[in-house]
Amino acid sequence: MSSKKIIFKKFCRFIVDAKTYNGVVRGNMVDIVEGDLFGDLSDMRMSFPVDRVKFLPPIVPSKIWCVGTNYMTHVREMGHEPPREPLIFMKPRTTLVGSGDPVRIPEWAGRVDYEGELAVVIGKKCHKVSEFEALSCVKGYACYNDVTARDLQIDNHWIRAKGFDTFGPLGPSILVAEKMPDDARITTRLNGNVMQQDVVSSMIFAVPQIISFISGFATLEPGDVIATGTPSGVGRVKPGDRVEVEIDGIGVLSNPFISD
Ligand code: MG
Repeated sequence: MSSKKIIFKKFCRFIVDAKTYNGVVRGNMVDIVEGDLFGDLSDMRMSFPVDRVKFLPPIVPSKIWCVGTNYMTHVREMGHEPPREPLIFMKPRTTLVGSGDPVRIPEWAGRVDYEGELAVVIGKKCHKVSEFEALSCVKGYACYNDVTARDLQIDNHWIRAKGFDTFGPLGPSILVAEKMPDDARITTRLNGNVMQQDVVSSMIFAVPQIISFISGFATLEPGDVIATGTPSGVGRVKPGDRVEVEIDGIGVLSNPFISD
């Protein structure tokens, strides 16, 4: 196969015919590439239709950070006080699944909710960066579903409520960009019905503030993922449902929910 270096926009990982590849999404096609997200990519001149491939999470991060209560509309619907500084928690790596993978709901988890979110993917090591430098640490953006066992979130057991295996779909690809346009919409659909819709500029703490805040106490590393919070309209999801998180310019993260 001949190859040439390419400028890429949407990086993904996928399986086709039982083999794993890095790829670039181009319309309804996925091109196989050589190289990884952080270096040069070469186009291997082999492509598959998107509906023939199984997406993997586009990155396997060392850390998955999340921001809670970061849209005022969601703060109000939950009856919380507006936060004075970013509310940070983490999800274990075993929550991670790709677009198309099932999210497994254990019966004992009680009510489980979808939370459509914009995820930031960190591109380089950063420690104590200012808000002004923060975007230079960003590699790109993906769709994220911060699946939450709402009944178990009481008494501040956030990590258990949000830390079940498969409770963190990410994908379908990473849009390589330092900043998302302010008017980029985030939309969550439950079985095809729009349940959440807002623009990313509605966040209480914007991406530079979040990166600066986290890097003030913990070093962010290439591939780290930060889910930036959900707008209003969170709601229950049950086995048999499908949730899609779509962000303008990135794509659609789509996952069936099944009982575990
Ligand atoms: Mg959330």
